[in-house]
Amino acid sequence: MTAQLIDGNALSKQLRAQVAERAAALKAQGVTPGLAVVLVGDNQASQVYVRNKVKACQDSGLHSVLEKYEADMSEAELLARVEALNNDPSIHGILVQLPLPAHIDAQKVIEAISPLKDVDGFHIASAGALMTGMPGFWPCTPYGCMKMLESIGYDLKGKHAVVIGRSNIVGKPMALMLLQKNATVTICHSGTRDLKAQTLQADVIVAAVGKRNVLTADMVKPGAVVLDVGMNRNDEGKLCGDVDFDGVREVASHITPVPGGVGPMTITMLLVNTLEAAERAAAGA
Ligand code: NAP
Repeated sequence: MTAQLIDGNALSKQLRAQVAERAAALKAQGVTPGLAVVLVGDNQASQVYVRNKVKACQDSGLHSVLEKYEADMSEAELLARVEALNNDPSIHGILVQLPLPAHIDAQKVIEAISPLKDVDGFHIASAGALMTGMPGFWPCTPYGCMKMLESIGYDLKGKHAVVIGRSNIVGKPMALMLLQKNATVTICHSGTRDLKAQTLQADVIVAAVGKRNVLTADMVKPGAVVLDVGMNRNDEGKLCGDVDFDGVREVASHITPVPGGVGPMTITMLLVNTLEAAERAAAGA
């Protein structure tokens, strides 16, 4: 069996067209959805990420502001900027690009963002909302993975999902989202004793580790759905995921490529969250 690709670029295009339509409808009511992206310091990868996020906003008709600060900005100054954005009615979503310089407490900054504008879904209130099934913003990467499963009409009820990785931004929220859709969920991490024994039982595998070839063909049950969140470089310096793509695609029923899989979906879900924040604000929620 050669797996069907779940094309993150194609799905993103569809979803971004819907975002643009809804953004235009809001604009007609006098509200332009707005995202503020705050970058502190000159981390090369972060600069690329924020540029892509701002461009994606512009392409979908969202207003976006990029605030760039020197690496020596103080924590108090950054907190004051976040507070100003919290109070700015033209801004519906606030994203502070991580990592922050070491002298700034990233968690403190995230907690300073209003949960109503926490479009990254990293605030503790957003995490609590996800855990309890209350309305809130879901972290963009696992949210994008859920949209990918939805796009292939996959019913998670009663399925066994194995998530490899337990970070606060990918693995843990991913597991909660799968659980909310009635999958039976196993979370694996660096202390998991026999990863292969776990993944071989899975109907759905989400790899979110950050190491090449964490998942190889011999670890996958025939017909499983495999989502690859990882972003690594291979020996030639090319972007690759956590999954041995060429091997696993011969066993899985569906697989996401890297690049062109989960990556574009992450930015797309940021747009969706920003739009939803604006719609809620417009509705006075
Ligand atoms: P992270 O915070 O470093 O977490 C990695 C997780 O993998 C940890 O929970 C770790 O376990 C676990 N792990 C490490 N080695 C393992 C092993 N051999 N077997 C099983 N589990 C293992 O990383 P992250 O932020 O979640 O990101 C994960 C990957 O996704 C990275 O490559 C990142 O670049 C990528 N990513 C991509 C997107 C996107 O848009 N495509 C977005 C976010 C992240 P412990 O907890 O025990 O240490």
